[in-house]
Amino acid sequence: MTSWHIHIKGRVQGVGFRPFIYRIATENQLKGTVANTTDGVHIKLNSLNGEWKQFVKRIRREAPSLSIIENISIEKISNKKFPDFRIIHSSKDQPADLLITPDFAICKTCSAEIRSENDSRHRYAFNTCTYCGPRYSIIKALPYDRENTSMDDFKMCPNCETEYKNPVNRRFYSQTNSCPKCGIDLSLFVSGKKVEGTTQYDLINKTAQLIRTGGIVAVKGIGGYLLMADAYNQRAIDELRNRKKRPYKPFALMYPEKALLQKHVSAEVSDRDWYAPEAPIILYELNPIGKNTLAIESIAPGLDSIGVMPPYAPLFILLLDILQKPLVATSGNLTGSPIIYDDALAMEELSKISDAILLNDREIVLPQDDSVIRYSQKYHQKILLRRSRGLAPTIYKSPVPKNYRSNTVAFGASLKSAFAIWDGRHTYCSQFLGNTSHLLSQQNFEHTYNHLSALLSISPDKIGVDLHPDYFTTHFGEQIAERNGSQPVRIQHHKAHFAAVMAENDLLDQQDPVLGVVFDGTGYGDDGQIWGGEFFVYRDGEFERYWHLPYYSNLGSDRMAKINLLPALSLFHQFDNRGLLINELEALPKQIYQKQLIQPKIKTSSAGRLFDAVAYLADLNHENTFEGQAAMYLERAATKGQHANITRLKSQGPEEHYYQMLTHIWQMYKEKPTANQIALQFHYHLADLIYLLSEKTGIDKVAFSGGVFQNGLLVDLIKDRFSKKLNLYWHKELSPNDENIAYGQLAIISRNLNG
Ligand SMILES: [Zn+2]
Ligand SMILES: [Zn+2]
Repeated sequence: MTSWHIHIKGRVQGVGFRPFIYRIATENQLKGTVANTTDGVHIKLNSLNGEWKQFVKRIRREAPSLSIIENISIEKISNKKFPDFRIIHSSKDQPADLLITPDFAICKTCSAEIRSENDSRHRYAFNTCTYCGPRYSIIKALPYDRENTSMDDFKMCPNCETEYKNPVNRRFYSQTNSCPKCGIDLSLFVSGKKVEGTTQYDLINKTAQLIRTGGIVAVKGIGGYLLMADAYNQRAIDELRNRKKRPYKPFALMYPEKALLQKHVSAEVSDRDWYAPEAPIILYELNPIGKNTLAIESIAPGLDSIGVMPPYAPLFILLLDILQKPLVATSGNLTGSPIIYDDALAMEELSKISDAILLNDREIVLPQDDSVIRYSQKYHQKILLRRSRGLAPTIYKSPVPKNYRSNTVAFGASLKSAFAIWDGRHTYCSQFLGNTSHLLSQQNFEHTYNHLSALLSISPDKIGVDLHPDYFTTHFGEQIAERNGSQPVRIQHHKAHFAAVMAENDLLDQQDPVLGVVFDGTGYGDDGQIWGGEFFVYRDGEFERYWHLPYYSNLGSDRMAKINLLPALSLFHQFDNRGLLINELEALPKQIYQKQLIQPKIKTSSAGRLFDAVAYLADLNHENTFEGQAAMYLERAATKGQHANITRLKSQGPEEHYYQMLTHIWQMYKEKPTANQIALQFHYHLADLIYLLSEKTGIDKVAFSGGVFQNGLLVDLIKDRFSKKLNLYWHKELSPNDENIAYGQLAIISRNLNG
């Protein structure tokens, strides 16, 4: 007989790993122990004739679907005879060395149970098992055990306890286990008054009635409160827009069934997307039936696509099963502020927006919005737009080199904030934390950082911040560095973007040069100007700013990102002999801006503002009420343009092409073809510009980052233009927008690059 110690690292807690180990060990008549510790799962066992080899093979082959095995190490230990196979309770004796698990959507078995009359969990709104349910949003400390989560408030009834202790049960060691007898309670408040219900389901029924009759209800979900209303009821949605003071930004929808969604959208809704444990919001183009059935002008004004998620928690399934129609399901917050997750705050703030509030008494520790993804139409390329519930904080691809050990944190940018932590073993990227120019978002950023860094017991040796001197996140990083008596590393915004996409694609430590195309709205440049249309070459560990969109005056500074006439004026006044644009201004701003056009105070190379300017000339959008609004309308219009009528410029190089592009767009503006055609023509010109630039460098690896590449049509046109000649690299686990900055900062700091 020999004794062995098998140590498994990765995402192995909160995913049914110990029950799985117990099951295959007992099936093979192996004796030993399995334990969860802060550095993964440890198995010790006796092996008579080398059965341990077969055992390890089965672990690799049959591991639970939600688990991720990063590493299995096996060592022979001094002989110890075990009487049976046993699960040992967790111990917290070392710093955490395992991947924290995100929240998972309800699994198919749990969904079936709440719909089955004979099941003891029939209509139970908080049904979970080891394969599904909340994790990251309820965890207070590691390891992931019940007493370290907000489930600690609920004592299991004898039945639940029996399941919990039964090694062959699906709920064996399920830390979120509960049932109607011992579990989480709902309470419903209508106009501030508590409504009594005979059962939990009775309250859900009453909630459904409120929504059916045009009411708006705030429902406490997994990552926070969602505001819900009937997606067929235009008046209800308009009322929600009114109360939320959110005139245009699209609302997400939740559909009861995949089949109903399929009736409303043109692309195929795959099982893989609909039943994904991450359950993100996915963008779909509506078909004519969808357009006629939904109140689309209120759900997504000016657009004809919708963002849809499945009912990912049992409460949502029960509610939507009653209603049998899609609901608006948007983060319960005040516009610009983070999602509300605290019950007292919800009662105070959301009662102003909603007619009723459906609470439950399970505490949410870490708030998260819903994640958002889309696919490009032609090449079906997946583009992450927001990384949050279901995805955060896990990131599989680490941006730091193998031998790097210093604890490092990076604080990202400002508008779409997120931070990243390297704890010497794993990388974590926080969920999307909103626009940190708002005070409540700043508090939430701080709360999330304090929580996650405490969970990982990390105190940083190195700290990365953006080069921008006035970002909240820059100051936050400076304060933490000061506490440690150190200085933060300041990293240029677009180099961080470029480093992020290179790190995701293993391009930082290889020999070939890489061309980086980084297009976004704004970022502080090395020269103090506002960058945003950048071409870098990365070679031998050095970044070179190879070319950028020619500078133009940053008219009206921050107002330039809102009022689209300003970038239009700044970019096109050189062609505007008759003063068509400048004459749209009132006398006083006209004077100021005329001066700024001749003598720019600050200059910009922003690609984002170029989109805004073209959207203005195409008469698609005059004012951005939310970030990316003009770009969204421009892309939507372009998808309706005629590809056969596109003009291709015959320019020698990028400079000439850029000038000809502006000339052509101006000419179209004056000749007034359809907005769709201007929009599509612009997308073509831009893809051609990128191609010409890459030809000029002769570099055959091209990587793309920045918010502009959330544009699916542009991604498709670039792929068309480059055909298969070059290697193109895109973000994979991260969004191209500023959420990836912190990750890129980690990549740069850990290599000591000249960021
Ligand atoms: Zn389940
Ligand atoms: Zn129970």
